[in-house]
Amino acid sequence: MKLTLLGTGTPAPLTHRAGSSYLVRLDNEALLFDCGPGAVRRLLDAGVSPVALSHLFLTHLHYDHCVDYGYLVLNRWDQGSGKIPELEVFGPPPTKRMTDLLFADDGVYGPDLAGRTRHPGSQFIYEIRGGVLPRKRPSPRVSEVAKGQTIERGSWTVQVAEVVHCQPYLTCLAYRLNTPGGSIVFGGDTAPTASLTELSRGADVLLHMCHMINGLVEDPRITSCCSGHLDAARTANDAGVKTLVLVHITEQLEQPGVRERIVHEAAQIFSGQIIFGDDLMDVPLGAIAPVEIR
Ligand SMILES: [Zn+2]
Repeated sequence: MKLTLLGTGTPAPLTHRAGSSYLVRLDNEALLFDCGPGAVRRLLDAGVSPVALSHLFLTHLHYDHCVDYGYLVLNRWDQGSGKIPELEVFGPPPTKRMTDLLFADDGVYGPDLAGRTRHPGSQFIYEIRGGVLPRKRPSPRVSEVAKGQTIERGSWTVQVAEVVHCQPYLTCLAYRLNTPGGSIVFGGDTAPTASLTELSRGADVLLHMCHMINGLVEDPRITSCCSGHLDAARTANDAGVKTLVLVHITEQLEQPGVRERIVHEAAQIFSGQIIFGDDLMDVPLGAIAPVEIR
């Protein structure tokens, strides 16, 4: 199993941090958790074609976690040329409605899909890529999931918990992936909550939102829906995870000295491994050993 951070940013546009998105490569499958702005580009940067993806999990439908969904499905469908299975998608309601609004006949991409499936030029390209007419439209297999559910697929399972973020407007979820190679928790966007601590109990890796510096921002409107560095450290400590990865990083947090201060202060609370996440970082799933000087 290999975990790669594709996008570690926030809604604020940055060239070096795409929106939330994390890739897990297993033996014969590739799973994507969230699909924020720039996720597909980062996927290519990581050397993975959208065609290789088998499953997508959406934590919540804030655009910085899902805006590349349409692009991912269309690109995967176009390049897959009818030779790959439909993408399996898991997310909170209304993921099905969002999917319909994007890909149905009268959806956002309805005219594009009509052209690509019916225009002779598009059919020509489709056949060159090995497709067999008539060409079907993309039809992601969407399952809307809720807290307490477990998704089981062969060698891996995914547990679902609800976290505290933008209710009642958005249902906000966290996922725990369990495989023979270890367990990874994708905390999504959340304020500190017991449900995430429970989901994370004993996990190898916890990806936790670090949107602010605790103490600098104390307005309850934000602290009741987002986490800072000490919140992440407390959850990691309480859950007894091995590695904490700070993600959902704002530009303010990565100034020289601030970044180091964040890790230092988090380490006063959590004694495990702490990683300040960056785009395209491969996250070690076990003990991190110092590399010999060469
Ligand atoms: Zn959010």
